[in-house]
Amino acid sequence: MSHVKLFIPGPVEVSAKTQQAMIQPLMGHRSKDFQALYERIMPGLKTLFGTTQPVFLSTSSAWGAMEGSIRNLVTKKVLNCCCGAFSDKWYDVSLNCGKQAEALKVAWGQPITPEAVDERLATGEFDAITVVHNETSTGVLNPLREIAAVVKKYPGVSLITDTVSSFSTVPIGFDELGLDVMLLGTQKALALPPGMALFAISEAALAKAGTLKDRGYYFDFVEFRKNADNYMTPSTPVIPLIFALESKLEDIFNEGLENRYARHARLNGLVHDWVRRHGFECFAPEGYRSKSLTCVANNREIDTAKLVSLMKKNHLMAIDGGYGKIKGTTFRLSNMGDETDATIAELIAALDDSLAKL
Ligand SMILES: *Cc1c(COP(=O)(O)O)cnc(C)c1O
Repeated sequence: MSHVKLFIPGPVEVSAKTQQAMIQPLMGHRSKDFQALYERIMPGLKTLFGTTQPVFLSTSSAWGAMEGSIRNLVTKKVLNCCCGAFSDKWYDVSLNCGKQAEALKVAWGQPITPEAVDERLATGEFDAITVVHNETSTGVLNPLREIAAVVKKYPGVSLITDTVSSFSTVPIGFDELGLDVMLLGTQKALALPPGMALFAISEAALAKAGTLKDRGYYFDFVEFRKNADNYMTPSTPVIPLIFALESKLEDIFNEGLENRYARHARLNGLVHDWVRRHGFECFAPEGYRSKSLTCVANNREIDTAKLVSLMKKNHLMAIDGGYGKIKGTTFRLSNMGDETDATIAELIAALDDSLAKL
C-alpha cells in the first residue's frame, strides 16, 4: 500500500517489521511474561545508553520525562540552555512547574558553549541544568561532552539531557559523561511510533529526587526505580511499543552500533552534499551540525511551502518546511531511523526534481 513516506524529523518512517512486532498478543503488566519482556530488553538499553543504571520506560512522549526531570530534580534554580524551539520551551515548562529558572539564550542556529555554562553555574545559584543535545528545530548538535565536563566542576548540579533526536545516531555515554538524566522519545532517532519515553537517572539524581516532596506520581523517579528493580513500570505501560522496542533493539545490534553511527554520518553527508550542490547552506555552523537531520538555510529564498507540497504530491514524501519562527527561512530533511543509501538517494532525486519545478 502506498503512503506518504516520512522524511520529517519526527515522527519518522516506521518499518513493516516494527509494525508487525506491535501486534503481538498482550500480556498483563504485572505478569511474569511482562517482567521477562522488560528483562530481555534491559541489557540492550543499558548498552545504548552507556550505563549500568536501569533504563526506565515512561508511557508518555518525551515531554513527560522532560517535565518529570524538572519536578524531580530542581530544588533551588534550574539553568535552561535555550538554542531553539525545544530547548526554549523547556524554560517555559520549568516556570510552569513553579520552579525558579533562568534561560541561557543563544540565537537559533547557534550552539550552547561550555564557557557560557561555566559562567552562569559559577554564580552558585543553580542546582540543575537542562541541555538539548540535538536541537531538532535548528539542526544544532550541542557540545555535550564539553558541557558535561564543565558541569562536573559543580557538584550538586544535576545535568538533565534531552537526546530525543541524537540517541543511537552518535555515541553518548551516560556513565562516562556523568549525566544525571538522559531521555528520549520513541518516534525520532529510534524510528518507533510515538507514545513512549526512555530515560536513565544517576544514583545522585535519584537520591536528590527522594528528598523532594512535590514530585507528583506519574513521573516520580523514585517510583520508576522501585518498579524497574522488579522489571515493572509504575502504571500500565504501552506494551505494543515495548514489543516494537524489542524488535528495534534486535535491528540495532544486528547492524552493530559502530555501523549504525557510520550510516547516520554517511547519509547525513549525502544530504549535505545536496545542500551544497544547490547553493544552499546549513543553518547550523560547521562543527555543530546534527548527524540525524539537516536544517537547510533558505538563502536562495525558494518557496519552501511549494517544495513541501511538490514532494508530497509527486513523490509521496513528507519533508518539513521549517519549525516555529524559522518556518520558511529554513526547511528540514531527516536521515534518522532506518534510512539507507538507497532511500536517501530517492529523497535526493525527488528533491532535485521538485526544485526544478518550483
Ligand atoms: C520532538 C522533540 C521533543 C518533544 O517530543 P514529544 O514527543 O513531542 O514530547 C523534545 N526534544 C527534542 C529535541 C525533540 O526533537
